[in-house]
Amino acid sequence: MDVLTYMGDWGHEQIMMCSDPAVGLKAVIAIHDTTLGPACGGLRIWPYENEEDAVRDVLRLSRAMTYKSAAADLALGGGKGVIIADPHTQKTEAMVRSYGRFVETLGGRYITTTDVGSTGRDLEYVRLETAHVVGLPTTAGGSGDTSVMTGLGIYMGMRACARQIWDSDSLAGKKIAIQGFGKVAFNLAHHLLKEDAQLVVTDIYPEALDRARDMGIKVVEPEKIYDSACEIFSPCALGGILNADTIPRLNCRIVAGGANNQLAGDADGEELHRRGILYAPDYIINAGGIINASAEIGTPYNLDRAREKTERIYETMGRVVHISKEEEVPTSQAADRLVEQRLGSVRSVKSLYRPAGPI
Ligand code: NAD
Repeated sequence: MDVLTYMGDWGHEQIMMCSDPAVGLKAVIAIHDTTLGPACGGLRIWPYENEEDAVRDVLRLSRAMTYKSAAADLALGGGKGVIIADPHTQKTEAMVRSYGRFVETLGGRYITTTDVGSTGRDLEYVRLETAHVVGLPTTAGGSGDTSVMTGLGIYMGMRACARQIWDSDSLAGKKIAIQGFGKVAFNLAHHLLKEDAQLVVTDIYPEALDRARDMGIKVVEPEKIYDSACEIFSPCALGGILNADTIPRLNCRIVAGGANNQLAGDADGEELHRRGILYAPDYIINAGGIINASAEIGTPYNLDRAREKTERIYETMGRVVHISKEEEVPTSQAADRLVEQRLGSVRSVKSLYRPAGPI
């Protein structure tokens, strides 16, 4: 892989390879864009087959964070860290602390948090080495579990979509099919049930289905979820599930869920648009987690501020639909345009003239 060419093509600023053989650390940190503020994004700990896979993943994920934070109106850029290791068998305190020391060398250009394979406990170890970390457990003075705010944000985004389709943002009586009933979906369901939406869910994990049944929610087999007659389909499990096989099976007017990278490719966003299905771009409506974690930066964490900012996803989703209609593009492209407009406008702000010498 020609890393510098890739970085040039996709707008990345910096990549750092980190090695500490004494503790088995092999890590890569990527900073995509710091136009809006310090790069922020989670630490993924994953047993990549080779270094190139890790580099490719960290570059892709760091760019996605630039878009997510910019769309959420945060003063943050995009970054990501990966450690090449199996989180279940190879992760140690020493390894995670070593990663924290590398984050510290970046002097605040990159702020780390959790992602697949890393936990709040790991962040407590990272915090021993650097202050540039958010998403700590509440017991450690942090903002805690991100999925609570992620669930709220998806709910707000769903309501904004409902308003576009039915001229009312009420979800009362709406049939909503949820794929995956983990942390995010559980928190989303809590809001939907309060509004008397009719839910059907699926999961591959029996305990998750038991939890849904205990809440009085109907459950179906994993493969049946695509064919469920519903008004809203909500992917809250995996990426890549909106593709040429699944889209023709959907019976809904809206797709709005929390999973990252739901579209298998750009053409799938176009296909949903062509079929008249309103797609809520994943990084627009699942930003509650990063909004929550970012509320730790600068000032002590404040739950009300995080909630108020997360609720603004309603307006952001409305702006995406507006761009989509005005420019006659799918919402997936409209979201990218929204972000690129914001980045472009901040980049073009000229620095003010400052006289030389002491002010
Ligand atoms: P989770 O692990 O708690 O829940 C995911 C659930 O999906 C699990 O119960 C799992 O069994 C189920 N699942 C996996 N494959 C499935 C399949 N083929 N069919 C049906 N169910 C399946 O994770 P989560 O924190 O709830 O995150 C859900 C999604 O939202 C992920 O894609 C995640 O990247 C994304 N996301 C999460 C947050 C957050 O704050 N947690 C923020 C942004 C995006």
